Amino acid sequence: MLNKDLYFDWAASSLCDEEILKAAFDKSLELFGNPSSIHKAGREANKVLQECRQRCADILGVNSECIYFTSGGTESDYLPIISLLERPVKGSVVVSAIEHPAVREQINQLKKCGWKINVAQSTQEGIITADAVEKAMDADTALVCVMAANNETGAINDIYAISDRITKLSEGKKRPKFHVDAVQAFGKIPLDLSYKGIDTAAISGHKIRGPRGIGIMYMAQRQEPFLRGGGQESGIRSGTENLYGILAITECLEKYCAKKIVEENFNKQNELTSRFIKKLSDLKGITFVPECRSHDDMHYSPYCLQAAFKNIPGEVMVRALSDQGIYISTGSACSARKQNRPILDAMKISKDISSNAVRFSFGYSTTVESIDKLFTAVSEINSLFNP
Ligand code: PLP
Repeated sequence: MLNKDLYFDWAASSLCDEEILKAAFDKSLELFGNPSSIHKAGREANKVLQECRQRCADILGVNSECIYFTSGGTESDYLPIISLLERPVKGSVVVSAIEHPAVREQINQLKKCGWKINVAQSTQEGIITADAVEKAMDADTALVCVMAANNETGAINDIYAISDRITKLSEGKKRPKFHVDAVQAFGKIPLDLSYKGIDTAAISGHKIRGPRGIGIMYMAQRQEPFLRGGGQESGIRSGTENLYGILAITECLEKYCAKKIVEENFNKQNELTSRFIKKLSDLKGITFVPECRSHDDMHYSPYCLQAAFKNIPGEVMVRALSDQGIYISTGSACSARKQNRPILDAMKISKDISSNAVRFSFGYSTTVESIDKLFTAVSEINSLFNP
């Protein structure tokens, strides 16, 4: 059995809430009908499905018509981007330089279809400012994509300021759509997705202790259908609904993502991460990525911390800790097997630092004891390479 106590890769996948998943599974077995069927079994399943939509909407503080269940963060990012292909006239898309591949790769597809891609550049601290977005926008911009919190550095972007800026720049003309990838932010940092000007947002179940393969797309105003077929999810996203996943993500939203809980946990995690940063700061050869992370806790999610250790390639650190039953990662899980680090490149981090960078990410299992054990293990490995 793998040990869960020393799991520090929450940004890749959180530890599931087993009780929630088991109860959701049992309930979905009871609700065996297809929610689209008109017989009683179908109607019962549909009733619960719509209740879940309302419960999720209540947590987000939005109307239930704005909640669409999807297969996860990737799909919730994909749908708003791909919807542009429906437009007869092509224009430009603004994408931040630090997006997750779920957005970045999809935007590259638009390029192949004739769309112009304008990149909103990152600061060296890994932040996308409203000024950077403004600089990247042009008269034909139809969509702006900026994530709320970055999956490698934890950098938090001021999506409200960005939204306001987009609105201001669009006075008197058609406003571009604004898509926010909230996968690493939702349920972790205080976030109001109902904020004016946020058109669509992506949420993923497995980042908030739910199962993999379920997500939510928030869509403020109905757009063109994305996935055509049987017309489920109000025709926006066809496909028989994953009632098990929907039940589970709904419970997770209520248990972990309500405003007050998020704030309480945020403060707790801030203290734990500060403790870890303080201890790490004394290690020989350490560089925080970005460097300001050693003293700036205002602009970063406490759930995600990146650092590089001199003379220790990231993969070596990950494997050395893994041998002790401690799990961290190099960058994001999807880039773990690739050599390139586009987010760090966008921040102009030198190759020797970026190839040594590792990500520690935290969640419910993180305690003072587990943080201290992690620190001891990291410091012992570090002292072998940096005596
Ligand atoms: N966006 C961000 C910022 C992520 O970190 C991830 C997953 O790591 C995704 C999107 C994709 O989410 P999913 O794994 O649910 O498809």
